[in-house]
Amino acid sequence: MFQIKYQDGSAADWPLGKILCVGRNYADHAKELNNDVPSKPMIFIKPATAAVPMEQPFSIPAGRGTVHHELELALLIGKPLVRATEQHALDAVAGLGMALDLTLRDMQDELKSKGHPWELAKAFDGSCPLSAFAPIQGLDDDYSFSFRLDRNGKLQQHGRTGDMIFRIPMLLAFMSQHFSLMPGDVVLTGTPAGVGPLAPGDALTVELEEFFHLQTSVK
Ligand code: ZN
Repeated sequence: MFQIKYQDGSAADWPLGKILCVGRNYADHAKELNNDVPSKPMIFIKPATAAVPMEQPFSIPAGRGTVHHELELALLIGKPLVRATEQHALDAVAGLGMALDLTLRDMQDELKSKGHPWELAKAFDGSCPLSAFAPIQGLDDDYSFSFRLDRNGKLQQHGRTGDMIFRIPMLLAFMSQHFSLMPGDVVLTGTPAGVGPLAPGDALTVELEEFFHLQTSVK
């Protein structure tokens, strides 16, 4: 079980639930992979078994082709959301964190070309290095965050929430029409441009404004 941990070292009294993700939520990233910009959010789910602590060196699968990093703002859900309004969705956000949506890109390309589901490329064990969460009491409607990933000392991804195609309240409300979001669930909000391959030995720095500055590495 992956316990939700806060930055001050305390733990939330609920275990990590499911991890809901959105594909192609930044136009510049959709473009870099030659994908169309979607008219509705493209949702997929990783199980709780995908999560590993981002603060510790993590492994990537060997022998399954290219593994890409996708740095994403992660939202910890603190209240149930079932067919929620956008305002309820904002009120339910209990923590801010960072996640890597690790993706077996070669395998994903093959699955996509056959019209098959993506789970083998996206939901494998260890596919979601997840930071601790900075606790917040709901999200203001005028939220604005920027985050970045450096790989071996070089800027790789720089995202701004203002560039999302589907804003957070809409995204959470949309997800909750289809899936009940429960306390302990985590929502990954999509990745900006700059995704690329990881290799064993890579040193990574992840920053979310004043909330996080953490260093990790690939085993
Ligand atoms: Zn992603």
